[in-house]
Amino acid sequence: MVIIQVVQTKGTLLLNDNRESLAKAAAIIKQGGLVAFPTETVYGLGAAATNAEAVKSIFAAKGRPADNPLIVHLSDRNQLSRVAREIPDEAKFLADKFWPGPLSLVLQRSEYIPAEVSAGLPTVAVRMPDHPVALALIDLAGVPVAAPSANKSGRPSPTSYRHVLEDLTGKVDAVIRSSICKIGIESTVLDLTGPVPLILRPGGLPREDLEKALDRIIGVAVDRINSLQPASPGMKYRHYTPIAPLILITGRETMRRQMLNQLARYYRRKGFVIGLLNISMHHRLKDNVDPEKLAAMLYSYLRRMDVAGVDIIIAEEVSFSGIGLAIMNRLKKAATRVLRV
Ligand code: AMP
Ligand code: MG
Repeated sequence: MVIIQVVQTKGTLLLNDNRESLAKAAAIIKQGGLVAFPTETVYGLGAAATNAEAVKSIFAAKGRPADNPLIVHLSDRNQLSRVAREIPDEAKFLADKFWPGPLSLVLQRSEYIPAEVSAGLPTVAVRMPDHPVALALIDLAGVPVAAPSANKSGRPSPTSYRHVLEDLTGKVDAVIRSSICKIGIESTVLDLTGPVPLILRPGGLPREDLEKALDRIIGVAVDRINSLQPASPGMKYRHYTPIAPLILITGRETMRRQMLNQLARYYRRKGFVIGLLNISMHHRLKDNVDPEKLAAMLYSYLRRMDVAGVDIIIAEEVSFSGIGLAIMNRLKKAATRVLRV
C-alpha cells in the first residue's frame, strides 16, 4: 500500500514531492485545479495551460491583474512546436543550450494555448524548468503547465513552500512541499518575435550568457516612466513589495555609505526598527556580497523584514553584471524611493 502523507489547511492540500504525491498533484491539474510547485527560480502556481477556465482561476487566486501574462512550462523540448506557431532558429538554439533552465522565450502563440494564458497577447512565453519535481509534475499532467510565481500579486515571489502557504492557503488546491529554490529569482524573459532579441525581464540567466551564445548584443527593454505600453506587461506594476517602505541607495560606493549612515542615524533617532538589505558595509570589503547568494535569498529577506516588523528597509545598489541586473530590477520595483548619490 502506498501512503501519501496529506495535510490539509483551509482546503489546500500540502503534498510531498514523492512520485505518488506528484501523481495526485498531476491529477488535480488535469481536472482543472491549481497546484503550487517548486522550480529552480521561484515556486510557480500551475494550471493546465490548455484549459482557459483553469488559467483564469490562477489570476483569481493571486489577485493578479488580467493583463499580466503567464509563462508556459514544458517538460520536454518537443512540446515547443505545439505551443508556439513559429520557432525561429535562434529559439531552437537557445532552448537546446539553456533548457532546462531560467530562460523564458517569447514566441508567436499557437491555437493550442488559449489567449487567457497570454492575457490576450498573440505571443506566448515558454520555458522548461530545471527542477526534477517540476519536470515530473508537468510530465505526469500530460499538458504544458501555465504558471506565474505562486505569491499573492504584488508580494515578493516565493522561494520556499512556506512563502506559498503564507500567501495562498485556502486559495489553491495543493502546494507541493519541496526544497527552497536554488536561483531564487525569476527567469529571464527573452522576446524573439521582434527585429532583435530583447530581454523583457532580466532574470536567472545572465544577459552576458545569452550574448555569448548568440554572438551578438542583446538589448534590455527599459520601461519609460508612465508608459502606457510597458515592454513586458508584468513590469508595470509595483512588485515584490515588503510591507515596510524600502529605500534603495544607488551611486558611488563611498557616497552610498555616507548616505546610508545619515539615513540610519535619522531613523534610529526616530525609534524606527531598520532593516538593512545587501549592505556591503557589514563586510567592510568592497563587492563582498556574493550576487548569486543574494539573489537566492532576496525574496526571503524581504519577507523576513515583514515578520520582524521593521519600519523601514534600506538597500544598496549591487553591480549590474551577471545576475546583478535582475537583482537591481527587483530592488527598483520593490523600492518606494530610489536615492541616487
Ligand atoms: P511571473 O512568472 O509571475 O513572473 O510572471 C510572468 C512574467 O512573464 C510576467 O512579468 C510577464 O510580463 C512575462 N510574460 C509572460 N508572457 C509574456 C509575453 N507573451 N510577452 C511578454 N512578457 C511576458
Ligand atoms: Mg510574479
